[in-house]
This record gives sequence, structure tokens and C-alpha cells, in this order.
Amino acid sequence: MSDTRHTKVLIIGSGPAGYTAGVYASRAMLEPILVQGMEPGGQLTTTTEVENWPGETEIQGPQLMVNMESHARAMGCDIVLDLISDLDLSKRPFVAKGDSGTTYTADAVILATGARAKWLGLPSEDAFKGFGVSACATCDGFFYRGQEIVVIGGGNTAVEEALFLTNFASKVTLIHRRDTLRAEKILQDRLMKNPKIETLWFHELDEVIGTSDPKGVEAIRVKNVKTGETSEIPCKGVFVAIGHAPASELVKDQLETHSGGYVWVEPGTTRTSIEGVFAAGDLTDVHYRQAVTSAGMGCMAALDAERWLAEQE
Ligand code: FAD
Ligand code: NAP
Repeated sequence: MSDTRHTKVLIIGSGPAGYTAGVYASRAMLEPILVQGMEPGGQLTTTTEVENWPGETEIQGPQLMVNMESHARAMGCDIVLDLISDLDLSKRPFVAKGDSGTTYTADAVILATGARAKWLGLPSEDAFKGFGVSACATCDGFFYRGQEIVVIGGGNTAVEEALFLTNFASKVTLIHRRDTLRAEKILQDRLMKNPKIETLWFHELDEVIGTSDPKGVEAIRVKNVKTGETSEIPCKGVFVAIGHAPASELVKDQLETHSGGYVWVEPGTTRTSIEGVFAAGDLTDVHYRQAVTSAGMGCMAALDAERWLAEQE
């Protein structure tokens, strides 16, 4: 059945940014509607231990997101299981169409649709995700103290991750399919000077090799892209750092973006290029991509929306 619901603030996304915006917007008596999307709870529902959420020495990612959802609900946020398939920001009120058939009209919109790490698409990569294969050094680097690690990629992310991982690993091998890095020169300099890092040019990951009980990585097989020759590198961790894709499909032709699709916001705020539309979390953040920074931006977005709505009255 199709129906239309109006709200002062529509929050799209149910990761740390969306739920935090839900808490703040509810406490500001804005009676927000939050649409969860296809992944209620967002990226953290795909991981196990989270050890850097303040106040919790260790918490399972899915549990943390259940807690955030309950918190937002308890504050009065109307949380809806729906997926926004179309968003019209050309006029106010803004109009969002849900897959359920519901149309949402909103005076202000908070976008919190997150981002996704890009993966190579190998079956063995998939098989060991969360068990030695990761796309987030900040999240998982700590688990590889004293171990050998490989990083795949040649951009800023790969080089930053390789440098960061030297804080834990005994050795980091950066594997890149060419012999030229995209990363900024200053990062390249640091990479080359770091005694714990080795580079392997013109190679691709061919297979992740590991054990099933206990599940874990033991080595990788790499392929020389010029000769086709394969070889094995022993390692306990494989960090795939070949880029991220922000989930900006809904707004990509409507809002200004940066760094390949991240929603641009006015520095120090969550205001996008359209008045009344705010963006928070990984969708706009190319640098930090953390739960706590996303939550912080969710808070900012709700406060920015509250102030903007007050100015309209
Ligand atoms: P996300 O969590 O990506 O949530 C996006 C939300 O948008 C989802 O709910 C999705 O359903 C919704 N959505 C998308 N499109 C639509 C649509 N069209 N309509 C409605 N809803 C939509 N960070 C840490 O700080 N510590 C960690 O230990 C940590 N570990 C991680 C482990 C893994 C495996 C991964 C992948 C990430 C990890 N991160 C960690 C990063 C952290 O998960 C992200 O920084 C954070 O989740 C980003 O929050 P977000 O709210 O911006 O978006
Ligand atoms: P990126 O710049 O797109 O680099 C991706 C890297 O992965 C490239 O080296 C690419 O190889 C490689 N790659 C892509 N697909 C691959 C595949 N299938 N197999 C093997 N290798 C593959 O991505 P990013 O490093 O995540 O950076 C994204 C954006 O964020 C950039 O604008 C970057 O500047 C910005 N960023 C900035 C900072 C910072 O300022 N400190 C930090 C992180 C990110 P090729 O080079 O051969 O294409």
C-alpha cells in the first residue's frame, strides 16, 4: 500500500552516524524518521570485536549497533525498515521514495548512507574476511602484533595503512600491480624509508591460503602481472586497500562531491551544497572512516539541522 509521511527531519542510514543523528534529533523534539536501508546497523554489523568505541574495552560490532538502535528508539526516533530508492532534493519539502511504497517528505534531510570498501572479488578473500583478511587497518591492525602482514594497493589508503601497520607488524609487504604509486609523494617517501616495509611491484593477489580450524590466514599466493609466474608469501594478515566507494548513488547528480563521490560538506559543518541537506559519516569522510567519527558527525548533522530549521521559522 502506498502512503505519504511527512517529517521535519528524515535520516537516511542506520550506522553510527544515522543512529546518533536520531538520538540528537529526537532529543531536539524534531520527531525524526530514520530509514534503515538494506543493512540495519551499517558496516559494524559485519565485524566481530570493536575495541575503540569509547566506554567499551571490547564489544561485538552487531551488539554495539543494537545498543545504538535501542538508544535512538528510546529517545523517540521513528525507525523504519525501508530502502530509499529515489531522493528529490530539487525542491522543498524534499521527497524520498521508499521501496516499501511509502513516500517520505521532509523539511530537512540527513544523509548517513556510509561507504563500502572495495574488494578484489576473489573467493578466498571472501572466505577469510574477518579471519585474517581486512579492509581497515585502524580497526584490525592491533590483532597482528609481531606478525607479518601484506597490504594490497598503491593509493594513499594503501600507503597510509602500510605505515600504520608497522606499529604492530614485524614486517609489512606492500603489493601493487604497477611500479608507480598513486599515493602522495610525502607518503611515498615515508614508505620507502620505513625499514619494516618491503614493496613488491607488478604483482597481484591470486589466492589467500589458510586453515579452516582454527580459521586463519597462513600465506598468500601472488602472481607477477608481467610473467604470470606465481609465488607464495607467508603472512597472517591481508589488508586490501584498493579504495572505498561512498554510497552516494541517491545524490550524486544533485550534491557536490569530492575524491570520487564523497558528499562535500562545508568544512567544520555537515552542510552540503543544498540548504537543508546535511551529510554525516563515511559518506562524506575520506580520511577517518571510524564509528566514533561517524557518530560525531551524526551529532553535528542533527544540531546543524535543528539550527537551520529554527532559522526557517
Ligand atoms: P555505515 O555504517 O556504512 O551505515 C550506512 C547505513 O546506510 C546502513 O545502515 C545502510 O543500510 C544505510 N543505507 C545505505 N543506502 C541506503 C538507502 N538508499 N536507503 C536507506 N538506507 C541506506 N570503525 C571503528 O571505529 N572501529 C572498528 O573496529 C571498525 N571495524 C570495522 C570492521 C569492518 C569489517 C568494517 C567494514 C568497518 C569497520 N569500521 C570500524 C568502520 C565503521 O564501521 C564505519 O566507519 C562506520 O560504520 C561508518 O558509519 P556510517 O554511519 O557513516 O555508515
Ligand atoms: P585510489 O587512490 O583509487 O587507489 C586505489 C589503489 O588500488 C590504486 O593504486 C589501484 O591501482 C589499486 N587497485 C584498484 N583496484 C585494484 C585491483 N582490482 N587489483 C589491484 N589493485 C587495485 O584509492 P584510495 O587510496 O582509497 O584513495 C581514494 C581517495 O581518497 C583518493 O582521492 C585519495 O587521495 C584519498 N585519500 C586521501 C588520504 C589522505 O589525504 N591522507 C588518505 C586516504 C585516501 P592503480 O594505481 O594501478 O590503479
